Amino acid sequence: MRRVVILGSTGSIGTQALDVIRHTHDRFQVVGLAAASNHELLVGQIREFMPPVVAVSDETAANELHAGLAGLRSVEMIVGAEAAEQLARELDADIVLNAMVGAVGLPPTLATLQSGKTLALANKESLIVGGELVMDLVKGEPERLVPVDSEHAALAQCLRGESREDLKSVIITASGGPFRGWTREELAKASVKEALAHPTWKMGPKITIDSATLMNKGLEVIEAHFLFGLDYSQIDVVVHPESVVHGIATFADGSMVAQLSKPDMRLPIQLALAYPERLQAGIEPLDLATLGSLTFEPVDREAFTALDLCFKAGRLGSTFPAVLNAANEVSVMAFLEGKIAMTGIPDVVEGVLDDHEPASVVSVVTLDRADAWARRRAAEIIDSG
Ligand code: MG
Repeated sequence: MRRVVILGSTGSIGTQALDVIRHTHDRFQVVGLAAASNHELLVGQIREFMPPVVAVSDETAANELHAGLAGLRSVEMIVGAEAAEQLARELDADIVLNAMVGAVGLPPTLATLQSGKTLALANKESLIVGGELVMDLVKGEPERLVPVDSEHAALAQCLRGESREDLKSVIITASGGPFRGWTREELAKASVKEALAHPTWKMGPKITIDSATLMNKGLEVIEAHFLFGLDYSQIDVVVHPESVVHGIATFADGSMVAQLSKPDMRLPIQLALAYPERLQAGIEPLDLATLGSLTFEPVDREAFTALDLCFKAGRLGSTFPAVLNAANEVSVMAFLEGKIAMTGIPDVVEGVLDDHEPASVVSVVTLDRADAWARRRAAEIIDSG
């Protein structure tokens, strides 16, 4: 039985991971849960999965949890801003699923890998912000880092058993989000409600907005660069509204290998938890005859400027991707609060990237500093707008 820790257990990926575990009896044992919000749900998860240790971020949360768990004395609680990191580092576990949202996910990612565990990575920001640091920790043992994002899980499947020298390039697909076909002028008037209505994937609010701007796809390009050791010139993005083909690997002989499945995150989650085994977690294969046709089109890079910003930040390297990510987190929040238009998100990010002086050495300290600077600069640009 694999002993699993789930960080971000009450979020979209976290709850679906617990659903996978619920349906694959006796394969996994939940040995730790961490959640930053929704403590009512966390109480239910603790009662169902009985993890010996739980991490919450502050005292208020801990008190709520104590009240909700009255009578359950066997659960140990770790409290504090670094509780998730401590859980990842100290627990005796086989695999840690990092499904936290945002740059706060990086320290637990590093702690997981430093303590010799396998990391199922759903927290994008770990690779965006700290890609170099993360990949250094899995040098020579890439199987310790298993991607949970559907596109990267797809590419990992396309590359199984293939020689890396034969790989020419990869394509990751984008559904195009709710604003596919919109012009930049139309995008400037998009409402929060429209942006939150994603046509094919059900996800948390931050990633749903990132999908609407295509920032999410750009972040996935940077992730692919680190995960598969690819140059940015080897990574392409194609719009595919059906979200059936998730990733394609193109080989030297002209062959393209694609992975197809229903847009259901439980599939990459179960694959990551059981890797390299394939489990039956209740997901039906596609019925291609009923589906009829699959369509592909280029990204409108004039309207969706976020994609090229990610390529730019990725190519510049150093602290630029961390700055891009921090500026984006602040801008997405400002959009959700009605302070800026949706097109303001990439505009603010571009302004912050233009002003950034990169650090000469990439370390947790310089990344933290760049992150904090970018958040301040983004807020200034938003306030002055
Ligand atoms: Mg994805």
